[in-house]
Amino acid sequence: MANPRDRQPGGKPSHSAEQQLIQDLFAPLAKDYAGALGLRDDAATVAVEGGHELVVSKDMLVAGVHFFADDPADLVARKAVRVNLSDLAAKGARPTCYFLGIALPRRVGHDWLELFVAGLLQDQGQYSIDLAGGDTVRTDGPLTISVTAMGDVPVDKAVRRAGAQGGDRVYVSGTIGDAVLGLALAANEKPSWAESLDTDDVSFLKDRYHLPQPRTELGPVVRDHATASMDVSDGLAGDLALLCAASGVGAEIVLANVPLSRAARAACDCDRSLLRRLVSGGDDYEILCTVSPDKCIQFEDAAATVGVHVSRIGSILDEQSGLSFFDESGSVVEMTSLSYSHL
Ligand code: ADP
Ligand code: MG
Repeated sequence: MANPRDRQPGGKPSHSAEQQLIQDLFAPLAKDYAGALGLRDDAATVAVEGGHELVVSKDMLVAGVHFFADDPADLVARKAVRVNLSDLAAKGARPTCYFLGIALPRRVGHDWLELFVAGLLQDQGQYSIDLAGGDTVRTDGPLTISVTAMGDVPVDKAVRRAGAQGGDRVYVSGTIGDAVLGLALAANEKPSWAESLDTDDVSFLKDRYHLPQPRTELGPVVRDHATASMDVSDGLAGDLALLCAASGVGAEIVLANVPLSRAARAACDCDRSLLRRLVSGGDDYEILCTVSPDKCIQFEDAAATVGVHVSRIGSILDEQSGLSFFDESGSVVEMTSLSYSHL
């Protein structure tokens, strides 16, 4: 489409350069997806099996906000895909394809883009997904990446935030708080707790920040067992508050039951106040879900079968009484902030 901004510093790259870039870099990522039509048409078609529906999630990443402008391009690409896969898993969906919108500052060159595409290719293999389409523009602003991921579930089987009921148990996958610590280390904040970590811990925590591990394998298990589910992206406590509000319930959480990695535990042993920050920090990309008491054992067994560790961290309360946090001795822990907010 003709666009007056084409002749200005922002806007689209010149038509042929744009098509060249799409064909050289992005079309190979779409070659196995028939509906992508080789990225030579106006739009893609996405087939859905009979009796299934699409689950669609979009997340945007902005340089300087969601990643460091000098982060390796392949990790940026994989993070952009993975944060969306995390949403799909939380809904119980099986990922199928994704769309990529990218706004490129002029200084981003071919080498950066090649590494970016290599990262996409790696995760396409790992998660059995294909690129189906997208849009490519130039910008005078920061590098911005928008991925829209699609998955499918049997009709009406997507697990919502609303659905938790009094008595349900609250579960979280993996470990919580690693990315917040990894971010502090990547930002070179030199926190006092860093002294308690060995080099393996430090690289583990930084990896957890740079490369989320979407719990794709847990998706079907969540779908078959959970009453409500969401992914933890802005902080466990604040995200649980959202799930509770959607469900019209409250919750009580035992902080000592929140799963921590060895590295996060070492940091907490060094700085006792850190645990509150771990449960209110973001970027965990774990699954938070609720399960009725009669399904807990089945749920735990099924999660173990797909190789994802899940921890029971508390219970849902009938009334909309907000969240309460307790320490090991049963004393209430006051939380000053529940989550990270981008706005
Ligand atoms: P339009 O002018 O209609 O926006 P484009 O020239 O932008 O069309 O896109 C042509 C084709 O290339 C479409 O199939 C589109 O989905 C695909 N495409 C453009 N940019 C990307 C991208 N960053 N990633 C994947 N596909 C892309
Ligand atoms: Mg376009």
